[in-house]
Amino acid sequence: NPVPPRSYRLGVMLGDGIGPEIVPAAVRVVDAALAAVGSASADWQELPLGASAIEQHGSAIPPATLEALAGLDGWLLGPHDSAAYPEPFRSQLNPSGAIRKHFDLYANVRPARGLGGGTAIAPDTDLVVVRENTEGFYADRNTHAGTGEYMPTPDVAVCMGVFTRPAVERIARAAFELARRRRRRVTIVHKANVLQLSSGLFKRVCLEVAEGYPDVAVDDVHIDAMTVHLLRRAHDFDVVVAENMFGDILSDLAGELAGSLGIAPSVNASDDRCMAQAAHGSAPDIAGRGLANPVAMILSAGMLLDWLGRRHGDERALDAAARVEEGVRAAVSDGVCTRDLGGTASTGEFAAAVVDRVAGR
Ligand code: ATP
Ligand code: MG
Repeated sequence: NPVPPRSYRLGVMLGDGIGPEIVPAAVRVVDAALAAVGSASADWQELPLGASAIEQHGSAIPPATLEALAGLDGWLLGPHDSAAYPEPFRSQLNPSGAIRKHFDLYANVRPARGLGGGTAIAPDTDLVVVRENTEGFYADRNTHAGTGEYMPTPDVAVCMGVFTRPAVERIARAAFELARRRRRRVTIVHKANVLQLSSGLFKRVCLEVAEGYPDVAVDDVHIDAMTVHLLRRAHDFDVVVAENMFGDILSDLAGELAGSLGIAPSVNASDDRCMAQAAHGSAPDIAGRGLANPVAMILSAGMLLDWLGRRHGDERALDAAARVEEGVRAAVSDGVCTRDLGGTASTGEFAAAVVDRVAGR
């Protein structure tokens, strides 16, 4: 390969709870994967975020962190436990929400794929939920002033869903582009029979975008029917595109069907930025004891490598991404698992097992 290896500048935000255990595990695996494919090592930059940033910088997401992120190629975001922050931080937009909003990371991509073995309800699940991340029923209170959620009287709460053509177009394009790299099938999830204008616009615009992808099969399903289809035949679905709240709920359901939420990865991406983030939370109940399963964080970091590879036309990064996923699968199929998957490996032991397999040892 005549192209010189590219060195990526990657941010690391450890976060709260199990974050300082699972994020370094993912860093080690990424380093091993890049080395294994002959790529330049990543230039990691640790940035403050979460409870420790409140103590040291007086902010859960310091402005300096956001400024530094802007100069990086991508980031790993550890989970955070914003419900445990003291006021006023608890009532503020939580750190991941703040980063998603600041960088307009509009696509939340959440694969649900079994790891083999174990107690999965639908182990043959292999789908990706592409969730719109900026509007719908979670429309941001600050962006759409007065239209997100409010209480006209103490006994009346109003929540508005916001759906705009540009936001639906870009999430639909993300879904159809992804489908072209997979099994070429997109399912549009909506509730246009009841929410005729709002969910109707989502469905209509997605179908318009579909016309530009005649090579991709498309269908549409009501959100309620979709939960039933997923339970009965999750394996039939490939790419599922949904508005913010529907996508949030469906991706938890699909992740659990495929295995467990503890192994469910995700990225939040725009056209030029990507943030890797496990689908689970900070698990304060098991933090600091080496019990946490780093699979979701490691697979999320692998998705970031895949995104970097496609964005920069970098075959090595694409190979490294594939190695990360294969390494995790190989470790699990060799019986190396953390306690939540029925094994005895610590967070560090599991990461070391993945590093060995990624490195081809
Ligand atoms: P959040 O609101 O931040 O998403 P949550 O209430 O959904 O948090 P989690 O922090 O995801 O909760 O934890 C839910 C349960 O799953 C806890 O018992 C936790 O210990 C467990 N858990 C979550 N992530 C992991 C992990 N990576 N490894 C092992 N167990 C985990
Ligand atoms: Mg949760």
